[in-house]
Amino acid sequence: MAEKKIKTIGVLTSGGDAPGMNAAIRAVVRHGLARGMNVYGIKRGYTGLMEEDIKEMKASDVSDTIEKGGTVLGTARCKEMRTPEGIARAVEVCHKYGIEGLVVIGGDGSYRGAEKLANEGINVVGVPGTIDLDIACTEYTIGFDTAVNTAMEAIDKVRDTSSSHERCSIIEVMGRNAGYIALWCGIANGAEDVLLPERYDYDEQKLIDNIIDNRRRGKTHHIIINAEGVGHSGSMARRIEAATGMETRATILGYMQRGGSPTCKDRVYASTMGCLAVDLLAAGKTKRVVSYCKGEFCDFDINEALAMKKDIDNYQIEICGSLSHNYYKSEAALKDEEL
Ligand code: ATP
Repeated sequence: MAEKKIKTIGVLTSGGDAPGMNAAIRAVVRHGLARGMNVYGIKRGYTGLMEEDIKEMKASDVSDTIEKGGTVLGTARCKEMRTPEGIARAVEVCHKYGIEGLVVIGGDGSYRGAEKLANEGINVVGVPGTIDLDIACTEYTIGFDTAVNTAMEAIDKVRDTSSSHERCSIIEVMGRNAGYIALWCGIANGAEDVLLPERYDYDEQKLIDNIIDNRRRGKTHHIIINAEGVGHSGSMARRIEAATGMETRATILGYMQRGGSPTCKDRVYASTMGCLAVDLLAAGKTKRVVSYCKGEFCDFDINEALAMKKDIDNYQIEICGSLSHNYYKSEAALKDEEL
């Protein structure tokens, strides 16, 4: 049986905002219009859907948005979506506006809500939007590239002043329970130590010994990148200062990592994913999520995607350690060890 041609679609952003979401919204609107669809922009995620905070979009409604951080549609976390009444209300509103297909830009939680709408006959496609890179089915999520570059630049700045004052700095980066921002910054900023929630086996005494050793070798700073999922940077700094005698400061980068103009990569990948979501809906597909795997844009079944597990790259953890000066061993030192 031929799939029913979809005439009207909606787009919303849900969960935490991420730079590049506007590029995805713009792509859905313009690609949808180019394919002859009517496109509705739904404000404040599922909350706006239930409250009918909905606007029919023209191409000009997304002018001057690709370079902006945040999401022009706004975003929210909506408790009602987790209830049968909430789902029924969301479906009712979709029917009222004739929305047959919905593009949901967000994380795993947003996909769960979308899946429930799909069970009620609304065609849905998810697009991965989160700075945390913690969606298992994809190697790219909208906003990670901008966030990690923002964190990297900020850490460079903290490092300058740490060197001048001969301080140890513990810099906490975002990522919730995922350590991707921390690990990438660990490599990109040449940090002396990186603490990751995925490998939460760190030994504070080893950290202290590293600082003392580095100090003896004449290093003027010591940068520890701590992931949000490990946390406790302030108390860690106090203990390290007491144990090493080196002035130690904690800097929590916080929400600055979620804002700012998206990088070229985030603009281009988010645009591509937004267009792909429209193409999937146009092809009559539903319960799909757009992904990027092994150098290609692709899509997965939403339930399959939600069941996938992801682990941080062991090789990158290894090289992060071997590239930091702590782990560097001269050939002579290695020979000494062999003896
Ligand atoms: P982020 O990675 O930024 O947290 P997310 O999409 O995972 O993004 P959540 O807060 O988990 O963020 O989910 C966003 C919204 O999706 C929720 O506020 C809720 O409206 C909806 N949602 C989450 N989980 C479910 C669920 N199990 N059933 C229905 N709706 C859900």
